[in-house]
Amino acid sequence: MVRSSWLSWTFVFALCLSTALMGTEAWQMWHVREASLHGARIVTASLAESLSHQIDTTLKTADSVVSSLVQRVEAEGATPESLARLHGLMTSLAAALPAIHEMGLIDRNGNAVVKSLVPHPTGINYSERDYFRVLSTHDRQDVFVGVPVKSKVDGSTNVTVSRRVNAPDGGFAGVVVASVSMDSFRKLFESVQDKSGASINLVMDSGMLLASSPSSFGSSELDALMALPAGTTEYVSPADGIRRVGSYSHLSHYPMVAAVAQDSDVILDEWRAQLRADGVMMLCLLILIGVLSYKVERANRAAQLNALRDGLTGIANRRCFDETIEREFKRAVRNARPLSLIMVDIDFFKSFNDGYGHPAGDACLRAISETVQGVLRRPGDLAARYGGEEIAIVLPETDIAGAVQIVNDVLTAVRSCAIPHEASSFGIVTISAGIAALYPGQQHSEWTWLVEMADTALYAAKALGRNIFTVHPTAEAVPASTTKQREAA
Ligand code: GH3
Ligand code: MG
Ligand code: MG
Repeated sequence: MVRSSWLSWTFVFALCLSTALMGTEAWQMWHVREASLHGARIVTASLAESLSHQIDTTLKTADSVVSSLVQRVEAEGATPESLARLHGLMTSLAAALPAIHEMGLIDRNGNAVVKSLVPHPTGINYSERDYFRVLSTHDRQDVFVGVPVKSKVDGSTNVTVSRRVNAPDGGFAGVVVASVSMDSFRKLFESVQDKSGASINLVMDSGMLLASSPSSFGSSELDALMALPAGTTEYVSPADGIRRVGSYSHLSHYPMVAAVAQDSDVILDEWRAQLRADGVMMLCLLILIGVLSYKVERANRAAQLNALRDGLTGIANRRCFDETIEREFKRAVRNARPLSLIMVDIDFFKSFNDGYGHPAGDACLRAISETVQGVLRRPGDLAARYGGEEIAIVLPETDIAGAVQIVNDVLTAVRSCAIPHEASSFGIVTISAGIAALYPGQQHSEWTWLVEMADTALYAAKALGRNIFTVHPTAEAVPASTTKQREAA
């Protein structure tokens, strides 16, 4: 009775709303993800830069100390008094500068003369050290930063910052060396790592690791990180296949690089938690939209059905009939297909009401409507209450022969109900019917024409004595069956 597409506007709206919500959420989450990574890039780059700056400053301080000590030794010479003052100065400088592990003056043979950690150094020789070999053989005035070495005093690993001491004649007189503790850098890295979660490495340009927290990146990862353009970027570690955000910064004055990296997974942990929470919320929202749209759709369909259903009989109402016949009429004309209409009227119904009362009349009307409806088999067929005790049957794609077959079935079915009707000459409730048909190729602009024809045929059936049907003469005449019906009645 009600034709409705499975894809109703309610579902289309719900689908659009859901898609829009999911699209907005996906867009938003993508931006949050990008913002998280962007924030991590900034943090990583800032850390690399500030750490390299700090280490640079520490080494520069050590160099300044070494430089001023060289000037002092060159000016005052190596008298016992000046060496005693030098030791006092070194001790106080080492105490004031925690990153400087120790300082010392080495003579031209590599023997320690003054050491901040050892008041009277004897028998300690540094002639095998790189810095000693380079500075003793080259008259260079610049600083020499060596590879990390183990202290001969306490075994700690330190980077040496050293400068050559010249004798008044310009010959080699010794070396002033300050060792910068790698342990202090490691502690600094650990505290930074604790707060930021970033891994930090300090490496020489040669690739030698100077200090790290928590561990060395390894040469392959460092190569991958430093192969990237300067600044921060994301890369996949060749060592463990993990995606990281990394940055590095070369020290301004020394051949070292501070490299900082963070796992992208760790950076996105918070984002993932938010994604999960949002996902659950979105799912609930989608379920809610689905349930609501289903309920709205069901209510809509029920309302549509009710709007087209007759309240008393439950079959289609007049409005539904009008819409259906108009649509089917146009379709039949357009496609040159047959269309039949049967108008049915209960015989002597006024006297039925008079005899049995209106409630019984209503029940009878319901029973007859159900019976008529029950005869129809095709989905396109429609039985509708036309008005009062009249029922119209629309039969699309049905010619007069088919309509006659249906009307015969309807008449027989009503008679089979055998509803007692004492005031009727038949003793039971009967119906009369009129058939009109539109034939393929017939051109009529108004469907009301068909109703008028069927009505005329119905009145003819009444005039002929009731409990029969007639076919309107404009349709193909079926006189034999009309006669037969009358005879049967
Ligand atoms: P005919 O055989 O010529 O059709 O005689 P009739 O008495 O059926 O015709 P008439 O048009 O004179 O009477 C129709 C009656 O149908 C009038 C009214 O009492 C009854 N009727 C119409 N609608 C309803 C309804 O909804 N309920 C009940 N109980 N009766 C109705
Ligand atoms: Mg009647
Ligand atoms: Mg009537």
